[in-house]
Amino acid sequence: MRHAALLAASLMASSQARALEIVFTDVGPAGGVSALSPQALAGFEAAATLWESLLLDPVVLRVNVATYDFGAGNTNVIGFADSASYFGDYTELRGAMFADASSSTDAAVLATLPAGPTFVRRINLVTDLAAPATPTLSVSSQFSINGGNAKALGMIAGDNADPDALIAFNSAFAFDYDRANGIAANQMDFIGVAAHEIGHALGFISVVDLIDGGGQTTASALSTPLDFLRRSEASLALGVHDVSIDNQMRFLALGQLGILMSTGVTNGDGDQASHFVDNVGLGMMDPTANFGELRQFTGYDLAVMDAIGWDLSPQALQIAAGAMAAVPEPSAYGLGLGGLALALAVRRRRAR
Ligand SMILES: [Zn+2]
Repeated sequence: MRHAALLAASLMASSQARALEIVFTDVGPAGGVSALSPQALAGFEAAATLWESLLLDPVVLRVNVATYDFGAGNTNVIGFADSASYFGDYTELRGAMFADASSSTDAAVLATLPAGPTFVRRINLVTDLAAPATPTLSVSSQFSINGGNAKALGMIAGDNADPDALIAFNSAFAFDYDRANGIAANQMDFIGVAAHEIGHALGFISVVDLIDGGGQTTASALSTPLDFLRRSEASLALGVHDVSIDNQMRFLALGQLGILMSTGVTNGDGDQASHFVDNVGLGMMDPTANFGELRQFTGYDLAVMDAIGWDLSPQALQIAAGAMAAVPEPSAYGLGLGGLALALAVRRRRAR
């Protein structure tokens, strides 16, 4: 009996081993940026621990962190994540995703990736974003990926020394750094918001926001791994992904299931496209946060991370599978669900 007990303890320790390591560098106070408080640094570490318990890839994610006054035009922005970007030929991405595949979700994604050096996507080929043209089909041969996602897929070294992302917090907000007793009614969940921003640094980003923000012409706007999952009803029927901008339904296609997505600040539903649709409780990657709200992971967050190239811990795989089994097909939501009937709380964004 003693031996059995020891074995169980040993297995438990083994399953809790962390392969992902997230390291932070406080880049303040240079350039008008103030140094992080000890509570904020501890909050980042706590958010890192949440992710490190869920993802197994042997990756050192390097995140610069800062806090500063975002200014009068951004009083509703709690924080942002700005990722280092890489790009390459689509064949490299497809090859890396095949080499990295380990789950049934991975298999479902691979089945949607066209063979050959090019792919077709649905996109608005316009430069005048005040009046986006009808989406059309366009052939592309390249992709973009951020540092965290590239490390997960083995496309750059897992311990590559360059910073993968900058995460900054708005110093104008009052934050609650202790989740153990809930989040105070007039404060924001620092650890939850940090975990959200780390989610972007891990690869939860869409090129749609770059197009929508006018930061890139559509010709140079390269799809991310997340974008290869992105569908509209029209693109689903055509078997291609969709990075066009309008206020129609968008979702991530994972096998037979879909997870509703936001569609853009300027030309979409008002929230950045690098998020789930708001106010449906889809998870950590929802676009907004409320005062007093404790941010929680769901299986949707984890299933998406699995799909873009991360390897989930056994526990995370189980959570993801449970959530996926409960996701209605996109059409079941109807087109109205992504609307703004519910009041938006403070908007959180991902900056370029
Ligand atoms: Zn975000």
